[in-house]
Parts: sequence; C-alpha cells; structure tokens
Amino acid sequence: METILYIAHTESNGSLSKASMETLTAASDLAKKLAGATFVAGLIGENVQSAVNAVSNCGASKFYAVEGADFGSSRYASDVAALEILIRTANATIVLASSTSRFCRAMPGVAYRLKGLIDTHVSGFETGSGKLEIQRWYYRQRMVASMSRTQRPWLLLVDSGIYPAFQAQTGSATLQKIDMKLDESKKKTKVVGLQAPQTTAQTIRPDAALLFVAGAGWTKKQADGQIHIKDAERIILDFLNSSNASLGSSKSLVDQGSEGEEVLPFLSHLNQVGQTGSTPRHPKGLAACCHGEEPHTVGWRFINERRAVNLDPNCGWAQGKADVLYVADAFQVMTKVTELLTKK
Ligand SMILES: Cc1cc2nc3c(=O)[nH]c(=O)nc-3n(C[C@H](O)[C@H](O)[C@H](O)COP(=O)(O)OP(=O)(O)OC[C@H]3O[C@@H](n4cnc5c(N)ncnc54)[C@H](O)[C@@H]3O)c2cc1C
Repeated sequence: METILYIAHTESNGSLSKASMETLTAASDLAKKLAGATFVAGLIGENVQSAVNAVSNCGASKFYAVEGADFGSSRYASDVAALEILIRTANATIVLASSTSRFCRAMPGVAYRLKGLIDTHVSGFETGSGKLEIQRWYYRQRMVASMSRTQRPWLLLVDSGIYPAFQAQTGSATLQKIDMKLDESKKKTKVVGLQAPQTTAQTIRPDAALLFVAGAGWTKKQADGQIHIKDAERIILDFLNSSNASLGSSKSLVDQGSEGEEVLPFLSHLNQVGQTGSTPRHPKGLAACCHGEEPHTVGWRFINERRAVNLDPNCGWAQGKADVLYVADAFQVMTKVTELLTKK
C-alpha cells in the first residue's frame, strides 16, 4: 500500500503559495483514488503552524514539520536535509511537491540520497489500472506520455496551472515536529536579502488570466513608412498595466536586440514563447503584430482561448492557430482596448 506524502514550504509571510495549494488538490485527489493509500503532509519553514491550520481540512492523517529559522529561506544543504528526514519519518513511497524553484533545486538530490527516483514537470495522474501512472509532456509539449515506476520512494514535482488551488478552511491541526539540528557545514550559504525587479519591469506574470504576445510587427515600418517604437512601447505597457496581463514575445522580436536593431527595452528572451521559448499556461491569449508561425504557436499549447490582431488576413493565426483573428492595425486596436479598460 502506498503512503502519499504531500510536501510544501512556506513563503516569507508564512503562507503557502498558489502552486503549493494546487499540488495539494492533486495530492488529496490522488489519495482518494488510489485504493488503500495513506495520506500525510509535511511542511518546511520558519513557522508553519498557520499554514498547517489553513490546510487542516485536506484529508491528511498526519502533519509533519521541519521548522525553524534555518528553514525559512531556500538553501540547498538545509532543504535537502529537511526533505530527506521528512520523507524517511513519514515512510513515504510517493511524494508530491510543487515545481517551485526551491524544490526543483533540492528534490533531485533528495531522490539520490533516498535511492529513490524523481520525475519533474508532472502534469497529471491516472489510477484506473489500480496503480499510479503519471502524465508528462515531451518534445516541447508535442507528445504526452503516461508512465509508472516500481521503485520507491517516487518523488514527483507537479507543474503549476494544472489543478485548481485547494480551498483552505482554517481549522487547527496537530503538528508532529521533527527535531533537526543542522551542523554548521549546512549553513555556509546565507540569504542576505532579496533583489526583485521593479513591478513595472516585471512583465512575466504566470498567474495572469491573459497572455499578451507582442510580435516583431511592433518594430516594423507602418503605413506611413516609419517605425514607431516609442508608440509601441507606450501602447504595450499601458495595456499591460491596465489588464495585468503577462507579456510574451515572438522570437523575432526578442532576437532583434542581439542583432543591433531597435527593440522594446522591457523584453528579453525570458518572454519568448514557442518551440525554443516557454509554454506558459493561461486561460486566454492575445497576440498582436505576431505572424503565428508554428514554431511560435506550439508554445500556445496550454492557452485555452486564442485571439490575434494582424494586418495580414493570411497570417498563421488564420490557418487554424487562433479562435478569433482581428484583421486590423494593432496600434489602433490596443490603444482602444486600453481606453475601454481604463474607463471602467
Ligand atoms: C528551430 C526554430 C525554432 C524557433 N523557435 C521559436 C520560438 O520559440 N518562438 C517564436 O516566436 N519563434 C520561433 N521561431 C521563429 C518563427 O518561425 C518565426 O520566425 C517567428 O515567430 C516570427 O515572429 P513574428 O511573428 O513576431 O514576426 P514576423 O514574422 O515578422 O511577423 C510580424 C507580423 O506583424 C504583422 N504586423 C505588422 N504591423 C502590424 C500592425 N500595425 N498591426 C497588426 N499586425 C501587424 C505582420 O502582418 C506580420 O504578420 C523558431 C524558428 C525555428 C526555425
């Protein structure tokens, strides 16, 4: 019989992230579907009691914790030690954790120490055959595989944006604290502060309801024979600020900077969506001044509703890549959309 251990780390304010709450939904569903499975939870953080209370209704029969100032921030050595002891204490055979940067870094080392196996970017679970099968995408999200393993413990890092966040109902839960003394060799790395970009520069917003993709057309000569980079910059930023959309880009647009052409200063290769870029998950997507070629639109695999604005009625979006194509000037359309949004 399997013992499913859900593991999460607290954020700096002591809560659990949206991604962790999504993985909790997955873990709690899986525990109900996998016959005879035991479901337990484990938390890591400086002070985890309020986070545990918030998820006390998740169905876990025990809540383990590795707690203290040494576990407040991400650090490979202390995280690996804490995760290892949590999994050993719980006698877990299946471990579910979300793909946070903290766990992505530490969990593979934990699997090695436990002589277990790890699978990352897990996007689904099946239990129809009576045993656990996971789903995972390959080849830039073009092929999906279902697979199972016999080796235990089996550590699974679950991607965000797949499951709804667990609906917390604050209650109270008894913590089983694991007493852990870290030796000095595991504390050599110290977090001395956080540096984050200004909010206006932070254009990648994984939790946004809308992905707005800018294409190279924004930097091309327009009907008057001129390029209008400054206008493009203002129109795009105004729209992002009024809609809170996440900003994606085509490869052509972000490549222009390295080719010495005039570019939009807030875009980098991190914004690139597509075969050699990212495959973000958002309920809706809107592309403007982007042609919609296959190497780009393959990155839209997980965007549920797709719309595009392009002057060209024969662009790629019109060839079955978008649900709606507006054949129009994106400079005018996006200015009008922002005007309507800010009027509300
Ligand atoms: C191996 C490989 C991997 C690749 N990986 C990626 C990837 O990860 N991501 C990616 O994006 N691409 C990728 N590409 C490149 C991809 O094939 C396209 O070249 C790229 O997506 C084109 O970018 P674009 O649509 O922004 O530019 P363009 O093709 O130049 O299109 C610009 C569009 O803007 C429109 N336009 C211009 N002015 C306006 C206006 N005022 N209003 C409305 N529309 C206007 C034009 O009609 C045109 O359709 C890859 C290619 C290869 C070979």
